[in-house]
Amino acid sequence: MKNSYTNNNLKSDNDLSFNWSLVQNEMKSKLGLEIYESWLKKINFVEEFKGYILLSVPTRFIRDWITSRYLDQILQITKNYKKDIIRIEFKIIEKTFKEEKNMNYSKSLDVHENVSFIKDSYLQYNRIDPNKTFKNFVTGSSNKLAYEATLKITDTVSHYNPLYLYGGVGMGKTHLLNAIGIELKKDNKVMFISAERFMYQFVKSIKSNDMVKFKEYFRNTDVLLIDDIQFISGKEAMQEEFFHTFNALLDKGSQIVISADRAPNKLLRIQERIKSRFSGGLVVDIQKPDLELRKKIIDNKISEFCSLSSGEFKISKEIIEFLSSEITASIRELVGAVNRIASFSRIYNKSPNLSEVKVILKDLLNLGENKVTIDVIQTLVCKFFKISKNEMLSSRRSRYLVRPRQTAIYLTKILTSKSLPEIGREFSNRDHTTIIHSVKTIEKLKEKQPELVENINKLKNQILYYNKDNEI
Ligand code: ADP
Ligand code: MG
Repeated sequence: MKNSYTNNNLKSDNDLSFNWSLVQNEMKSKLGLEIYESWLKKINFVEEFKGYILLSVPTRFIRDWITSRYLDQILQITKNYKKDIIRIEFKIIEKTFKEEKNMNYSKSLDVHENVSFIKDSYLQYNRIDPNKTFKNFVTGSSNKLAYEATLKITDTVSHYNPLYLYGGVGMGKTHLLNAIGIELKKDNKVMFISAERFMYQFVKSIKSNDMVKFKEYFRNTDVLLIDDIQFISGKEAMQEEFFHTFNALLDKGSQIVISADRAPNKLLRIQERIKSRFSGGLVVDIQKPDLELRKKIIDNKISEFCSLSSGEFKISKEIIEFLSSEITASIRELVGAVNRIASFSRIYNKSPNLSEVKVILKDLLNLGENKVTIDVIQTLVCKFFKISKNEMLSSRRSRYLVRPRQTAIYLTKILTSKSLPEIGREFSNRDHTTIIHSVKTIEKLKEKQPELVENINKLKNQILYYNKDNEI
């Protein structure tokens, strides 16, 4: 299979390689931020082939959800950018929670690939999200100081200058920078930019001999909000320019607010003089939210949904307890979890129960797939279909045994990372082609038999549930 980049048939289609970020942006505006954040953001572009594109998502559940609800619209949007694309395929690339967190670096750096295709201006990146305000920023002991310091900036410009805000991923740094932007842009010229974007503009301006404009633009602002400054690590020329911009702004009394993932003295490969400038104003950190704040954030999100949809949106106490005790790593994950539950409730017109929540949030929770064993799957499937394990593992082909056997094989394939030959071995040394056949059969039947889908979902829940309970 050839990539379209080298494929002559597709050359007529002006752009050379597929720019997924354009599709993402359009999905965001067409399908809404809530759906985008909860589901579509999880989609990664893998490769373009002749006539179709291959995308990846972290779990099957997300793939099924997306394909059953949004695929038509995604395809439609994709076609606007490349009309030859007639279908979309998904592949599951499961990531552990840790890996996903570590991905943040490389993901953000990859953005460069797409940049040259976007007709950009400085202004295009100076976007302030109207939904991230001080008003909807929930405070607790871990973020109160940061909240108060940022709020203070908005009543007296140059109170703390610079203000340096740091904390882990998904803790609310960008939210606070954004909130400052909303408040101050009423009377000031505000520039809100990620360090990465600043870097990109810088390089681009050098290439196009436009440095004068670049300098003018950045030095002309009253408030510079610069997000994720750690990205200038190791970029010497860029740091030089940044240092001068920084000084020029301070000299003329402009306010600077910086966010980063770590304290100034912990920044790597950033000039000492810059680090010392960062420490020269006020440095505050945002820590991980404690249980109380996590609950408050969930409650807050629920009331936000209620007022938005002017309807009832309920999450049971049990589920709030579960979410607030399981999703501890970041506020972003927590907000994402509530968004997904809201999507579920809207679509099915009911609140999910705990086991449904576990399935919906599988990739966010640490219900690792490796904890699901073949033995548990076989046991539960046998119990469900009221057959014995010996019967399931036998070579008998009676109808009442074949379907349960295929179901168990299918569930093993989707809930564990076992290879086909490994699965074959666990099912009385069956050949891997038999395993493929079973998986395909169930997949086909699922399309025609809603009750099979329901049974499989029930079993899936039981299996995930079983493990969790056993663990406690
Ligand atoms: P960071 O920039 O630290 O990685 P963000 O500011 O992007 O994190 O926050 C991630 C998500 O969590 C956003 O949707 C943001 O609105 C939300 N969020 C973070 N902190 C809070 C908070 N204290 N109250 C309400 N929402 C929050
Ligand atoms: Mg951020």
